[in-house]
Order: sequence, then structure tokens, then C-alpha cells
Amino acid sequence: MQFIDSHCHLDFSEFDLSRKEILLQARIAGVSDIVVPGVIADRWQDLLSLVKSDHNLHAALGLHPCFMVKHTPADLEILETLLATEQVCAVGEIGLDLFIPEANLDQQLLYLNDQLALAKQFNLPVLLHVRKAHDQILKQLRLIKLERGGIVHAFSGSEQQARQFLDLGFKLGIGGTVTYERAKKIRRLVQELPLESFVLETDAPDMPLAGHQGEVNLPANVAKVAEVIAELRQITVEEVAAITTQQSKNLLRLI
Ligand code: ZN
Repeated sequence: MQFIDSHCHLDFSEFDLSRKEILLQARIAGVSDIVVPGVIADRWQDLLSLVKSDHNLHAALGLHPCFMVKHTPADLEILETLLATEQVCAVGEIGLDLFIPEANLDQQLLYLNDQLALAKQFNLPVLLHVRKAHDQILKQLRLIKLERGGIVHAFSGSEQQARQFLDLGFKLGIGGTVTYERAKKIRRLVQELPLESFVLETDAPDMPLAGHQGEVNLPANVAKVAEVIAELRQITVEEVAAITTQQSKNLLRLI
């Protein structure tokens, strides 16, 4: 059985854990590929060297909406240069976050739209971070019409919004949230939409699974996310692994 962790930050510096050991554990759990999104320009070079050291790791580069104070317009120029010269599987993590108290929608939109334009220019998919702004981001996606779509990481919208993203060629990223009994909305979506709508992710070290609150999350846990989806849909975990892996591979063109 093979899994892909389509969204994992792999930054364990605060936890005194060895990344090498974590990657080995992930491999043992069946995780064949891990997509690591960038969030601020300062970390892009480290991320690019990391993925060059391990062919199962894949970089996405982007300016995350929760770190607005760190971004400058010059970062967008660097991003354009890197997208033209480096091997990356997506533009991300980019998006809109109206949940954070300091949110400034206009400023977030400027960076989002410039980065969507870069995704279009380089014919890349995007990894989206969206909180309390699904309709706003759908509006931008309809305007730009990205040929390769992307992934809505940690999807938290309604079923109607989910269907609109799917119509635009997006997949919904399902992670630790689905393991919580109280996450009724997302659990219902996982039962009702076609399995082809989803890709698996952990967001490690963030978003711990139910029963592990306050602990560090690891990419190996993507297998447990798959088990919960299998239970909810009354199908085998093998089927969940096969279909979601295929979706990630196709969308991100992982080989
Ligand atoms: Zn993330």
C-alpha cells in the first residue's frame, strides 16, 4: 500500500526530532511521496536543497497569507525566477485567511492574485490555504481559470463550496481533522463526495490526530487518516490509498 502526504511542512526544529528518522518512519508506514510547501521567501532555498537530497520529497513555493508581515513585493520577483529555474510541483502555500485577527483582505488578495498569475504563467497547480474566505477565493479562481487546478489544503468549507472547487479542477486535502468525531461537516463530505475528490495530507508538524492533541504530528500518520476515511466510507484502506495516491500523482505530476 502506498500513500502520499500532499501537504507536510517537515519542520521539526522546535521538537528536537530527527527529520531523517521521521522520513524513515514515514517510508515504513507506506508514504512514498511528501509534498513540502514553502510559506516565506527566507525558507525557499533550504526547501529546495532539502528536496534535492531526497527524490521522494517535492517542493512547492509560495507566500502564505498568515505571514503577510514577512512578505515584500521583491519576493514575488524571486518567486518568478525560481519557478522558471527550479523543479517545483506547485505554487503554494498561497491563499486567503480571514480567520486570523490581523487579516487584511486587500493585502492578501494582492499576493494571492500575483501568485495565481505565476501559476498560470508556469502552468503549475496551486496549494491553497483558505479559512473563512472560500467564496472570495472561488471568485478569483473563476477569473483566472487555472488549467491544472490544485489542492484546497485542510478543506473546511461547505458541500456547495466543495463542489465548486471540484468543478474548477481542484481536489480537497483531507488530514487530521477528519479523525475527530465532532468534525461532522468534513466527515459527511468524505462520505458523500466521490473518493476521487480527495487527497491525503498531514500538515505535520501541525494538525494532530484525535487523541493526540498537543503532540507533534508526523507524515507517517497519513496512513491513519486513510484508515478513518475507509471506515467512514465502508471501503478498504487499500482502495483509499490507491485512489488518493493516484489523484495526487496526476494533479502534481509526481513520478
Ligand atoms: Zn500548511
